Amino acid sequence: MTAGRVSVYVHIPWCLSRCPYCDFNTYAAREWPEKEYADALLSELAWYLERPPFAGSTLATVFFGGGTPSLFAPQTIERLLDESCRRFRTASDLEITLEANPGTVDRVHLAGFRAAGVNRLSVGIQSFQPRLLESLGRRHSVGESRDALDAARAAGFERLSLDLMYAIPTQTLEELEIDLSEAIARAPEHISAYALIFEPGTPLTRDLQSGRIQRASEDLEAAMYETVGNRLGEAGWSQYEISNFARPGHEARHNQAYWRGGPYLGLGAGAHSFAPEASPVAPEARFGVRWQNVRDPAHYRDAVSNDGHAVAEHEALTRAQAMGEFCWLGLRETRGISEPHFRERFGTTLDDAFPHVQTLRREGLVTQETERVALTPRGRLLADEIFAGFF
Ligand code: SF4
Repeated sequence: MTAGRVSVYVHIPWCLSRCPYCDFNTYAAREWPEKEYADALLSELAWYLERPPFAGSTLATVFFGGGTPSLFAPQTIERLLDESCRRFRTASDLEITLEANPGTVDRVHLAGFRAAGVNRLSVGIQSFQPRLLESLGRRHSVGESRDALDAARAAGFERLSLDLMYAIPTQTLEELEIDLSEAIARAPEHISAYALIFEPGTPLTRDLQSGRIQRASEDLEAAMYETVGNRLGEAGWSQYEISNFARPGHEARHNQAYWRGGPYLGLGAGAHSFAPEASPVAPEARFGVRWQNVRDPAHYRDAVSNDGHAVAEHEALTRAQAMGEFCWLGLRETRGISEPHFRERFGTTLDDAFPHVQTLRREGLVTQETERVALTPRGRLLADEIFAGFF
């Protein structure tokens, strides 16, 4: 494999408290070993940079996710970025995103991230309704959300992304409309709007199972999904993925790398990585390999210190798995998947590999324009069922 562009994800596994719906690898804490953790991240990066496919790659995107990366000091983020940019070749359009939670940042803090090189800020708003923030167990207020967005602009962020959530128990369509109106009025370059997911084992799912709360009906969730698409579309944000909307040119390139099967290196506790071909973890993997790091932050640091990396488990993809992933990940994007690209990569046609695609076409769930296959608006409503057909 020749060295190409690579995306780097950096996981910061701490939050001030845990939201009851969250199943991310994150730990509630008031203090954390920031310097030691950053040391481990840089050691892990150095280990990968001596090995294919990451050696000699060009750094295209960096994403600080969590957890709550905005809890870290700007100086720590600056150190991580300076070292990364020194060790990689960097793309001229390098995208550096940091996730921030309202209530953890002010203008000075955000200006520090901007000066460190972060050029895209993703703010976890979720809702502008106090009662919904409370039911989601978010620790920030609506006022803090508004302050964070104002502070981000004042700190010089020209690429701002805002996360919204819908299908929250008891949320009405009118409340969603109000959230969308405020999001639109704030004019971020990018909006992610996700339906609440009840992940196994979370406190919110236990509330659901005990009958204390009820999920939004399927009809309401579908109406909310359509409302999100219609309102944002009318206001000038184009939907480029199932849950993501952007002003032209402001699509999240880091996430596009995931959906397009590009290599990404996940650094940090519990981080996931993927290499489409050979990798230091499974040099024999022909159709790609993904791997996950040790989840506990202290164990992660120990593993990096002992072995240079912290891989807990890996999976070499079979040809069938790789073909399925190509389809269901690619179909997340509204531009869909390229049939010639599929043929070139797997040596067979899409219809031969997945005959049910013909049924999807007949039922109007996928469209076929030129040589690309994409979900129709109706197909997007049934995306999860359609994706399951490629597993
Ligand atoms: S702030 Fe985000 S990462 Fe942290 S617990 Fe809440 S949802 Fe999870």
